[in-house]
Amino acid sequence: MKHQTSSADTLIVGGGIVALTLAFKLKKLRPNGSITVLEKEKDLGKHGSGRNSGVLHTGLYYSKGSLKALLCSSGSRQMKLYCKDRGIRVSEVGKILVPTTKIELEQLPILKERAIANKAEAHIISSREALDIEPLVNPNVDQVLHCPQSAVVNPKDILLSLSNDLKEMGIEVCTGEAAIGIDPVKRVCRTDQRSIEYGRLINCAGMFADKIAEKFDIGGDYAIAPFKGNYLKLTEDMANCINGHIYPIPNIEMPFLGVHFTKTIDQNVYLGPNAFPAMGRENYSGLKGAELSTMMPLASLLTRQYVTDSQGFRKHMHRELKSLSLNNQLKAIQAMVPKVEKKHLVSATKVGIRPQLYNKKTKKLEMDFVVKRSDHSVHILNAISPAFTCSMAFADYIIEEYIDDNSSNKTLQSSGNRNVETETEVR
Ligand SMILES: Cc1cc2nc3c(=O)[nH]c(=O)nc-3n(C[C@H](O)[C@H](O)[C@H](O)COP(=O)(O)OP(=O)(O)OC[C@H]3O[C@@H](n4cnc5c(N)ncnc54)[C@H](O)[C@@H]3O)c2cc1C
Repeated sequence: MKHQTSSADTLIVGGGIVALTLAFKLKKLRPNGSITVLEKEKDLGKHGSGRNSGVLHTGLYYSKGSLKALLCSSGSRQMKLYCKDRGIRVSEVGKILVPTTKIELEQLPILKERAIANKAEAHIISSREALDIEPLVNPNVDQVLHCPQSAVVNPKDILLSLSNDLKEMGIEVCTGEAAIGIDPVKRVCRTDQRSIEYGRLINCAGMFADKIAEKFDIGGDYAIAPFKGNYLKLTEDMANCINGHIYPIPNIEMPFLGVHFTKTIDQNVYLGPNAFPAMGRENYSGLKGAELSTMMPLASLLTRQYVTDSQGFRKHMHRELKSLSLNNQLKAIQAMVPKVEKKHLVSATKVGIRPQLYNKKTKKLEMDFVVKRSDHSVHILNAISPAFTCSMAFADYIIEEYIDDNSSNKTLQSSGNRNVETETEVR
């Protein structure tokens, strides 16, 4: 078969939520520009965007000045609006954070302050008040943090709807087509089916974003450290007694939130995800997808983090190792909801992997989203949680700071002139 050549003003590599929202917003802004989206899998949602908890976070955890802090609350509002407009189910179940030690209790005012700074609603309430919202929450804790805006969606509903929107808007969404070679000088991307000449390439390849960035000589300071998240599920009788999300107090130095209860749109309750180093970028089960090329550098990087106890990594790993025993996991769960017993826990097939970026210079796990640019290309790195929640606002931010031609003289660092509060209408 003859190898075809086609062209696109904008070529987006990856078909996750970051790619789809970006294509959606870009086409609205510039209806005449042609956009092609390439997704290597036959179906959307095979990786991060289809394997997450589906929580639309409120913006509680994120430190001042971070992109997560800037984008979460606006992203959540925009996503809720989009869902409402398209008739996609959103369940505004709210969230309760349960401190189980005195030190954790002292974190509540800090988290509340962060929530206010990030334009999210949060209230410190007594356990008696908490019982009205969540009848099974531990009555022996003094206070909890209540975040009424926390919501949940089925992420695949949103991916499907966005993909249909994009096709209607004249965007080529090509599933089952992988970018396998890129010539950044000639601006040509080779797939297994054709060559695509592009004006600008946007790298939204999630777990493989570093590999694409490498071709542009970008991201050399980073390494991907994949962290796997497994889930348990509550039996139906117990799930029916849980009204919303119940979370522990996280270590805010680490990019993981701890094992939590998520009430899904279908009334299931999942417990998880934990955060354990994965043996490969797509190592979802057993040894399938295990790669020595990922495992070796990851082992040395994690050993270093453990020895130096950077970001409280030692405590994190001890907690994760403990959680390998169901009894230990049960203890952590019972500290939040004492009525849950072993008989209420069933293993779930749900599993996701975070493409966590490690900064080789600072020797720390990157806490925030990272965006890099070169001539004619933009690279979205470390699109970790809550990138699903943030995606609509993240797309606005990327367009304004890195793509909009009027801003082409901007430096590679974000300028601080961020106007995410002017929410672009979704339709
Ligand atoms: C266990 C878990 C729970 C989470 N929970 C939440 C949550 O509750 N709320 C929240 O907001 N966020 C959550 N997140 C984070 C969220 O899911 C991600 O931040 C988000 O989905 C990232 O989207 P993405 O588009 O960057 O990546 P992805 O969804 O991974 O998309 C990247 C796509 O690129 C494709 N690709 C890769 N290489 C190529 C190539 N060469 N050619 C073509 N295509 C390619 C891949 O197949 C993939 O589909 C969670 C993540 C995990 C892992």
